[in-house]
Amino acid sequence: MSDIIKVEELYGKNVFTLSKMKERLPKSVFRNVRSVMLNGGELSLSDADVIAKAMKDWAMENGATHYTHWFQPLTGITAEKHDAFVSTPDEEGHMVTAFTGRDLIKGEPDASSFPSGGLRSTFEARGYTAWDVTSPAFLKESGTGVTLCIPTAFCSYTGEALDKKTPLLRSMEAISTQALRIVRLFGDVQSRKVMTSTGAEQEYFLVDKKKYLKRTDLIFTGRTLFGAPAPKGQEMEDHYFGVIRERVGQYMKDLNVELWKLGVPAKTQHNEVAPGQHELAPIYETANLAADHNQLIMEAMKRVADHHELRVLLHEKPFAGVNGSGKHNNWSLTTDRGENLLDPGDSPERNVRFLLILACILRAVDIHADLLRQSASDVGNDLRLGANEAPPAIVSVFLGRQLEDVVKQLVETGTADSHIEGGILRTGVSTLPDIAKDATDRNRTSPFAFTGNKFEFRMVGSSDSIAGSTTTLNAIVAETFCEAADRLEAAENFELAVHDLIKEYMTKHQRIVFDGNGYSPEWVVEAERRGLPNISCMIDAADALTTDKAVALFEKFGIFNRTELESRKEITFDTYAKTINIEALTMIDMAAKQIIPACMKYERDLAGTIIAVKEAGAVFHAENEKLQKIADYIDQAQMALDELRSREKEASEIGNVRERAYFHKDVVVPAMQALRTPCDKLEAIVDKQFWPFPTYEDLMFEV
Ligand code: ADP
Ligand code: MG
Repeated sequence: MSDIIKVEELYGKNVFTLSKMKERLPKSVFRNVRSVMLNGGELSLSDADVIAKAMKDWAMENGATHYTHWFQPLTGITAEKHDAFVSTPDEEGHMVTAFTGRDLIKGEPDASSFPSGGLRSTFEARGYTAWDVTSPAFLKESGTGVTLCIPTAFCSYTGEALDKKTPLLRSMEAISTQALRIVRLFGDVQSRKVMTSTGAEQEYFLVDKKKYLKRTDLIFTGRTLFGAPAPKGQEMEDHYFGVIRERVGQYMKDLNVELWKLGVPAKTQHNEVAPGQHELAPIYETANLAADHNQLIMEAMKRVADHHELRVLLHEKPFAGVNGSGKHNNWSLTTDRGENLLDPGDSPERNVRFLLILACILRAVDIHADLLRQSASDVGNDLRLGANEAPPAIVSVFLGRQLEDVVKQLVETGTADSHIEGGILRTGVSTLPDIAKDATDRNRTSPFAFTGNKFEFRMVGSSDSIAGSTTTLNAIVAETFCEAADRLEAAENFELAVHDLIKEYMTKHQRIVFDGNGYSPEWVVEAERRGLPNISCMIDAADALTTDKAVALFEKFGIFNRTELESRKEITFDTYAKTINIEALTMIDMAAKQIIPACMKYERDLAGTIIAVKEAGAVFHAENEKLQKIADYIDQAQMALDELRSREKEASEIGNVRERAYFHKDVVVPAMQALRTPCDKLEAIVDKQFWPFPTYEDLMFEV
């Protein structure tokens, strides 16, 4: 038996938890920091000094030599710059370690090279990091040793958000304020806060490191740009929930240990649909912590893979022809008294509140379907959404049979006094049915599905941060909560007003509800008939950021101002163009230096064989044909390669970033496909020993 893992002992070992603070801080300081965590506000510098000292002592006792302000720039991943705990030695040459309150709460990385979409010009590139007190500091063990990581938000000198965390925190405050107004209307005077909770199911692929290193495309782009399908794909459905292979199991075991030490509540692990694909889901947490933890999960996945001679692929579509990877973002709202507002509950009053909240969410998603779609867009996800393996690019809401029926009754008759099983529950003005928990069935094809006591936003890509989609969800729902609260607070007869409002919202926005098969071509037609947006591409989605309604929404709650939105749009175009550019250059490199030369070698070998066989007096029709085919495909590949080269050059000369992005989408991407096609055909007929890098078969089936 291998070492025994004691989860209780491991859990949070590397986190400066509340209990560690309690142990190490004077009572008054602990009280103050706890209050900031719960109620917001600022720490005094003297408190920060005391906390910093305690944090440093704890970190150094555990071997830390450095600290870093850990933040999430708009690259979508995390950034860190390490500083050692050293300062000027004293006269006798003894090292004095230092880490002050100021070092803890504020940093100024010279972060001028992060994307800011024009928010900062490099000559005034001040960016500040500020400690997010609600996310605890932790120790990261890596090649550089042990580093104290302080989760921070990253803003410009003028206060604009340069990261994903700042807007998320702003959106959490906005929805808390508005949701509190809603619960107050139903008599809850005790709750002080409504928290956004999220739990992100993370899908990923594992491949052997040695093979990975033989593929330039995996190294540079995280996905395969060439590759004929293996004889077997996922059609047997034997990988999903299958027995976990030993090597993968050992990886998962180490990954869990690593995550538990970091206080990440890793919970569920299983094999996913595609060969070589797996999933890890943690228990849900407060949204900013969950977003931080999802970043830690992705980082730990990469680090641990290295220890196992593996590589993890977080790209949304590493392999053509089998499922790609997503990240279901499970979202709910809970009061600080622990009541989940998306739980239908079992009393009629709760049900009214629930139905109001549901109606608000339907309205929010309908009005801002384009923004929600945008929040889940990244370059890799374009290859996945709408491809019959992931939710379509059309946003709709799945409610399940029972809830959909309730909505229908409300819309048609103004009351809903039965639920679908037929039992009459109540009659009268405030008559709304009792909705049983877990009455929802499943629909894997829906992008936004109600699953019992939460919504599951399934569009998000596997490599993406969940901060963006959570921010948008919070913002759009806060807006409708605000509208509803404005009206209901002013109503003379609350019972009537709430009833009418639910009916109104559900009637106006029921077009967003769809319980059918989201993968079917009929849905595309039906959605168009309903007037729902179908945005297939990331750069098309970017425009949603700066519509009047989007600017009004985000400015109303101080989540983004117009400048910040413009900058994010700019970054979207830039990221798209750069990513496709790297992919195209990688394809050019692989085709020119590896694929075509290898095929020519095989061609020569085959030609030699044919001549030899002919000289020996035999006839060899099939091989002649094969030789001709290979010559044709090489020809096609060579022409496509030249075409891609010249298109790439054209693209690089376009100055305007939006135009450059669209040129990549409309011209470069098709040229890439034109190169891939003959190369994949060649792969299927060329002798394997000539093929210059590992194939799909090698990568997906032999981990
Ligand atoms: P599924 O049926 O989708 O697999 P699970 O119960 O396994 O659902 O949950 C998937 C993810 O949703 C997990 O990360 C889980 O912690 C999270 N989750 C469960 N309940 C909630 C909730 N109320 N709010 C937010 N996330 C939740
Ligand atoms: Mg799920």
